[in-house]
Amino acid sequence: MPTSNLYDTQSLRERDAAHHWHPFTDTKELGANSRVIVGGEGVWIEDSEGNRILDGMAGLWCTQVGHGRREIADAVYAQMTKLAYYNTFFKTTHPPVLELAEKVASLAPPHMNRVFFTGSGSESNDTVIRMVRRYWDLKGKPHKKTIIARRNGYHGSTVGGASLGGMTPMHGQGDLPIPGIVHIAQPYWFGEGGDLSPAEFGLKAARALEAAIDAFGADRIAAFIAEPVQGAGGVIIPPETYWPEIARICRERDILLVVDEVICGFGRLGEWFGSVHFGVEPDLMPIAKGLSSGYLPIGGVVVSDRVADVVIGEGGEFYHGYTYSGHPAACAAALANLAIIEREKLVDRVRDDIGPYLQARWRALGEHPLVGEARMIGLMGALELVPEKTGRAVRFNAPLGDVGALCRDFAFANGLVMRGVRDSMIISPPLVISHDEADELVARA
Ligand code: PLP
Repeated sequence: MPTSNLYDTQSLRERDAAHHWHPFTDTKELGANSRVIVGGEGVWIEDSEGNRILDGMAGLWCTQVGHGRREIADAVYAQMTKLAYYNTFFKTTHPPVLELAEKVASLAPPHMNRVFFTGSGSESNDTVIRMVRRYWDLKGKPHKKTIIARRNGYHGSTVGGASLGGMTPMHGQGDLPIPGIVHIAQPYWFGEGGDLSPAEFGLKAARALEAAIDAFGADRIAAFIAEPVQGAGGVIIPPETYWPEIARICRERDILLVVDEVICGFGRLGEWFGSVHFGVEPDLMPIAKGLSSGYLPIGGVVVSDRVADVVIGEGGEFYHGYTYSGHPAACAAALANLAIIEREKLVDRVRDDIGPYLQARWRALGEHPLVGEARMIGLMGALELVPEKTGRAVRFNAPLGDVGALCRDFAFANGLVMRGVRDSMIISPPLVISHDEADELVARA
C-alpha cells in the first residue's frame, strides 16, 4: 500500500470540495471533510493519513477478490497495449469480449446462453426494460409493457434504473418512476411481518405480485424484477417461501422473471448467482459489480434462450448498445477476476467455509441490547438497531437514515467500513476475507 505521508490531506480535501460533486452525498454538508482513500490491499483500504480500515462493504458490494490484485492490473495492461478500445457495434468483435461472453454463459444456468454487455448495473437495467418490451412486441402482445418491481428495491440511478427501483427519495427528485412501472411490497419480515411467521409472510409478500398482475390484467404485464436479496434496501433476506411462490406466479401468468444479480451474482450468496441459491430460473439477469470486482466498470444482461430466440431470432436489429459495451480492457479485467474466483474457489468458500463462519459470529451480535435482528446470508448481513428489545414493533424515532448514518460514521472512525440504511448497519465484505479478519470485522462492528 502507498505510504500516507506522501499526502497533504487538507489540501486534497479542499481541492475535492472545490470541484468534485460526489454521488449520493449532501455536498454542502460534506464541505472539505472527504475521506481520502489512497490504497487498498485484500480487505483493507488505507486513507491519506495512514489509517488502515477494514473494507466491510467490498467497495460498493463489488470487490469479490479484494483490493490490489496485481494479476487483474497486468491483464488490463496487456490488453491495453494490444487494443485499448474498440467497439462491438456493426458486426465487430474482439477476443476479450467473446471470451467473456463464453465464460459468463458457462457459469450461468444452462438455459441462459447470451450476454449483452453494458458499462454498469444501471445500464443493464435500462437494457432490461428495452429487452422485455421488445420481446412482447415480437410475440404479438404489444400491450404487455408494464414492469412490476418492489418498494425499497434498488436497480440503479439512471432514469430507467431509478424507476425500477423503489426508493421514494429518489423518485421525489425528477418525477420518477417513468410510466409503466409499478411497485409492490418487499419481503421485509423484520419491519413489516406483523404477527405472521416468516414463512407465512413470505407467501403473503409474494402474493402481492399475483394481486397486482390480476388487478392490471396479465395481458398488460411484461415482467417482474427483483434482487434475490435486497441489498441497498437493507439486506432484506426473503423468507424461504418467497421465491418459489414468485416463480410459480410468473410462470402461471406468463410474466418474464428478471432477477437483478448485480450484488448477489459472482459468489456473494455462495453460488455463482443468487437465483441459483433460491432455486429459480430467471428469464433475464442483469449483472455488474462482482463481474470485474469493480476493477473496471462493466455490466451486462444474461439472457435466456426463451428471450434471445425471439429478440435475436425474430427481431432483426435491436437498436440498443453503449459505446463501452464489451470494452476490451474491462472484459480483460473481468476475465482475470473470474479466473481468480475460480482458482481460489471463492464461491465454494462462501458457501462452506467463511460464509458459515462469519454468519455464526454475526448472529451472536443479536445478543446486544440495541440489536433487534442480526441477519446474514452468504457474505451479506445486517444488524437491525432498536431502542429496546421488546419485539419488532419498537423502532427509533429519528428521521429516516439518521441512526444508520451515525453508526456508519462511528464504525469508520473505529476502522471499519459499514453502510447505514435506515436503522440498520450493513456489511458485505470481499469474498477473500480470512477467518482472523472476519473476527476483526465483528470486533469492530
Ligand atoms: N442493481 C443492483 C441490485 C444494485 O445494487 C446496483 C448498485 O448498487 C445497481 C443495480 C446499479 O449498478 P451501478 O451502480 O453499477 O449502475
